[in-house]
Amino acid sequence: MQLRSQNVALDNMASVDPLTGLYNRRSMHDFLNQALKAEEDFSLIMCDIDNFKRVNDTYGHDFGDVVLKEIAHIAQQQVSDKGYVCRWGGEEILILSNDRLDHTCETAERIRHDVEEHIFCCRGQELHCTLTLGVAGHRVGSVVEDTIKHADSRLYYGKQNGKNRVVTPYNAQ
Ligand code: GH3
Ligand code: MG
Ligand code: MG
Repeated sequence: MQLRSQNVALDNMASVDPLTGLYNRRSMHDFLNQALKAEEDFSLIMCDIDNFKRVNDTYGHDFGDVVLKEIAHIAQQQVSDKGYVCRWGGEEILILSNDRLDHTCETAERIRHDVEEHIFCCRGQELHCTLTLGVAGHRVGSVVEDTIKHADSRLYYGKQNGKNRVVTPYNAQ
């Protein structure tokens, strides 16, 4: 019994990011492989916190960590059981959505909205923060690295065009 719970704890440590509680990048590779094997369409949302360096510089790294944790929680709440939310890099979150592309774009917009509305608090200080998101649809037979690149370049486009926005296949240039 004890051994089994220790194994569960070890599995958890290997697949979950300790700061945010999100899946880590390694897990996301597993989920992407599973999704490819299932031979069904899926969608990706790549998210990156806006001006996060400034948050760290102005309020301190601890407050930055609080922001990251709470944004992770908001994304997780919105995606719920419709996909997997992972910490892809430092302040980048990648979401694998098993939902239809148009519904995934709506989810991305809800995440953006919830973050914009949220007041982040740490040691008596309050701040607002925003998120830019890029959405891409993956069709059976496509190369997943290309789909990640599409989500990434839409995110980049959003960063170049004012941030705090969702760039989708519907509104991309
Ligand atoms: P942009 O709007 O273009 O995304 O600007 P940015 O400042 O968010 O982007 P940049 O890539 O310059 O900075 C990302 C920052 O994220 C730098 C790094 O210190 C911070 N960061 C990465 N991981 C963590 C973390 O775990 N905790 C904290 N507090 N900061 C982190
Ligand atoms: Mg970044
Ligand atoms: Mg950033």
